[in-house]
Amino acid sequence: MAKAREEKARSTGGRARAPERTCVGCGRKAAAGELVRLRILSGSVAVDRERAGGRGAWLHAAPACLAEAVRRKGFARAFRGAVAVDEALLRRQLTENGGKD
Ligand SMILES: [Zn+2]
Repeated sequence: MAKAREEKARSTGGRARAPERTCVGCGRKAAAGELVRLRILSGSVAVDRERAGGRGAWLHAAPACLAEAVRRKGFARAFRGAVAVDEALLRRQLTENGGKD
């Protein structure tokens, strides 16, 4: 009988948060909206603007995080295997916010 009241009391504690993802560069957690989703496209890491699904990795749109991800082999970990990373191209894709491909 007191069950409903208990549920209510519990829900006042922590509010529902936006889903969090971990940046493969700095390793910090952030809301999915603050990170860029990456996926494997033709064997190399690419920005996944369409959120096409499949295995993905998340990264801050910051050159420092990209460099850190390359250095720490964060992409290989995220994608469970060796992947090609065109760092210069990725950096451009991360920093340019144009809709062009
Ligand atoms: Zn980061």
